Amino acid sequence: MTELHPVEFFRHGLGPAELASVQETLGSLFLTLGPRVGRFEERFAQLLGAPHVIGTSSCSMSLILTLRALGVGPGDEVVTTPMTFVATSNAVLHVGATPVFADIDAATGLIDVEDAARRIGPRTKALIVVHLYGQLCDMRALRALCDRHGLALIEDAAHAVEAERDGVRVAELGDATTFSFYATKSLTSGDGGAIAVRDAQLAARLRGLRNHGVSKDAAARHGGSYAHWDLLELGYKAAMTDVEAALLLPQLDRVWERQARRAALAQRYLELLADVPEVRCIPWEGRSAHHLFPVLVPPGQRDRVLAELGSRKIGCAVNYRSVHTLHYYREELKLRREALPIAADFGDRVLSLPLWPDLPPEDLPVVVEALRAALRDAER
Ligand SMILES: *Cc1c(COP(=O)(O)O)cnc(C)c1O
Repeated sequence: MTELHPVEFFRHGLGPAELASVQETLGSLFLTLGPRVGRFEERFAQLLGAPHVIGTSSCSMSLILTLRALGVGPGDEVVTTPMTFVATSNAVLHVGATPVFADIDAATGLIDVEDAARRIGPRTKALIVVHLYGQLCDMRALRALCDRHGLALIEDAAHAVEAERDGVRVAELGDATTFSFYATKSLTSGDGGAIAVRDAQLAARLRGLRNHGVSKDAAARHGGSYAHWDLLELGYKAAMTDVEAALLLPQLDRVWERQARRAALAQRYLELLADVPEVRCIPWEGRSAHHLFPVLVPPGQRDRVLAELGSRKIGCAVNYRSVHTLHYYREELKLRREALPIAADFGDRVLSLPLWPDLPPEDLPVVVEALRAALRDAER
């Protein structure tokens, strides 16, 4: 028995700069919806090249706020992908609308644009696409499709801060783009999120909706004598805090360096996995954010392989089992596995290998050897 060499699935890279930034915030007046949130919004907008950014409490709430701001509600349908985290389609259900899943591209796992087109009907109000694993969807084709049918285009960019493809960047062609700063994401404040939009009116509506729907936020109410605020519409408690913004601000300086490190590791995985014929890697076009490194294993072997990798202390995850195969969706939307065969198969075969900027490159051969051994054992 060879000695175990544990490899962690993910580690955040937060350190002294983030600590100092939070410490400074604790000595200041505002802990939420204050100047640091504003500064983060400005700097994140610059990084993306987007006109407006609204800081929120999560990507999940960002999606709900966006659907509400776009007027999507009961009786409406939203076409989306089942190869995502449940938050994407849950948001559609939370606003009372119906998610309509399109199948995916078997190679990339991204929404199949032609199948999405087929799922558009008279009740369809919007499309939510997911830049899965960090690969940008075919945004030119999706924008054209949405324009043809008068639909809003929402990008779930929880994986894809740095993505670009065909000269199009994340948040460039969508009407709204949502981000996650959850604990395992590339930029993180434990929890937190953002929405990037191009339209000033939509941005103003979202700013209201994230703060209950009131007419003024805390910083705007501060100073001078008390002035009444009003409730303009029924909103949510979903704002970013200044502590979260303080954690995020120093990370913005390292975004590209960290993306480059993940890209180099992904390239190395590809080289090593070329020698493991049972494993299929997911190709990427243009600049991927390389948020995750997923592979597909032969049908029927994934769960055995996961158990083997676990026993060898290699951290792994599944991103994702297709949403339409999960209990709630099967029951609530009466969805059969066979309705979306490509997503069902992909979701049964995919697993994610360790990938984070400071992952020691010498751990990669350890992971790949463990995977090779796990596949060999799983075959028996
Ligand atoms: C993480 C994730 C979300 C949810 O993000 P939260 O910030 O945790 O709400 C939504 N969509 C995708 C694709 C994700 O990976």
